[in-house]
Amino acid sequence: MDNLLSHFSGIPANTAASMSCALCGSNHVQVVGERDRDGKPLRNVLCIACGLVWVDPRPSDENIDKFYSSEYRLRYKGAYQPKPRHCYRETLRAITRTKRFLPLYQPGMRVLDVGAGAGFFAYVLKRKGILIEGIEPNEEYASYARTELGLCNIRTEFLKDIEGNGCYDLITINHVFEHLSDPCLSMAQMHRILGAEGRVIMEVPNIEATYHAPNKIFHVGHLYWYNPQTIQALAMRYGFTVDDVQIVPGTKHINLILRKSSRIIPEHDINAILSGNAAHVLSGLKKHTMLKYFFSHVPYVRFYKKMRQYSKERAYTKNFHDGVSIVDAVFSEFSDWPPESSLRY
Ligand SMILES: [Zn+2]
Repeated sequence: MDNLLSHFSGIPANTAASMSCALCGSNHVQVVGERDRDGKPLRNVLCIACGLVWVDPRPSDENIDKFYSSEYRLRYKGAYQPKPRHCYRETLRAITRTKRFLPLYQPGMRVLDVGAGAGFFAYVLKRKGILIEGIEPNEEYASYARTELGLCNIRTEFLKDIEGNGCYDLITINHVFEHLSDPCLSMAQMHRILGAEGRVIMEVPNIEATYHAPNKIFHVGHLYWYNPQTIQALAMRYGFTVDDVQIVPGTKHINLILRKSSRIIPEHDINAILSGNAAHVLSGLKKHTMLKYFFSHVPYVRFYKKMRQYSKERAYTKNFHDGVSIVDAVFSEFSDWPPESSLRY
């Protein structure tokens, strides 16, 4: 491992982090990034004991909460409210998520969507006759869900602020965990608010993905980076068994289905998952060079797909005057979904 670390991109090897690893408690890290995707200073480190990656030093909790309450959507979507093309794109994503959700859903279940955004997923489910609750820290997006989409069950709230025990049967949490300042607290929180055998449907980005150029991986919004091993180990440590893990083709996002367990998962099961993982993650980052990236088909296929997507979105949305009409139109194209009872976990 030392040999591997010392050859990583000329970045200083083996140093100490300002905070210990949230997953294994180690304080020994390798710096794996010193700039964000815009070229601004941002240090990301990898725990050499388990492979978890995080932003170090960490902004204060107060600044993080402020960022997600007001700046995040503007910074990443360029608007306080979803633009027409986002309505189109997010509805398609919501339909994909709904297809994944339906096999786990049973009538009467209490469902919470964490990071509900502008509410497209909750809206698609409502059109399918399923009412869920949602929480979204950004006031403008939560307000859009309530006023434009009529979703009175979307609250402006953080996961850490939910009180009570066993209030939900199913939690959906997509592209949220990488943004959370305390993933341990959040995992424990989900365990607490779920009832017995409650399930979590989760998606997170994968540090092993290579569809971004090496200098475009890290950005200020992602406080943690996971790979399939670290996110599973984290879930297990906080009392979840892993029912399913899938890697999305192309993006390599990690899809998980977790189940609340009443027993403590043995430490050796968790350690077995993490064995050799740090070297594996580091080796992948080391191999992902600019030269290799630009000599592969990835950036060119990605550029072509993006252009085709923009053009399709523009063409589809140009005759609509509001977001909800776009959502309804996209939804109506998929209203004959077959029942998905064949897939049960
Ligand atoms: Zn660690």
